[in-house]
Amino acid sequence: MSAPGVGQLHNLFDIEVPALPGAACKLTLDPEKFFPPPGGGRPSAEREAKAMCAVCPVSKECLAWALAHVVHGIWGGTTERERRAWRRRTQGARP
Ligand code: SF4
Repeated sequence: MSAPGVGQLHNLFDIEVPALPGAACKLTLDPEKFFPPPGGGRPSAEREAKAMCAVCPVSKECLAWALAHVVHGIWGGTTERERRAWRRRTQGARP
């Protein structure tokens, strides 16, 4: 079972973000924090995005959605690399 809105996406600055009620990242004026370009974004961007996720009221739902889907960027306070590692540990999935 999923929370209302989980799994739906909407578009913000041409970048898909979770359509979760109260999602803190919907208010950001710098979506690159959450979706760094290939090769990485600003060194502080990941830290800033994770800080926003840490106080987001829907972080658990967001993380659950991101773990169930292979998505780029910071979701639920985790990077794509961290979620891949979690899948390997818990599901035996290959990278
Ligand atoms: S946990 Fe982070 S990425 Fe997920 S909705 Fe909240 S602020 Fe956005």
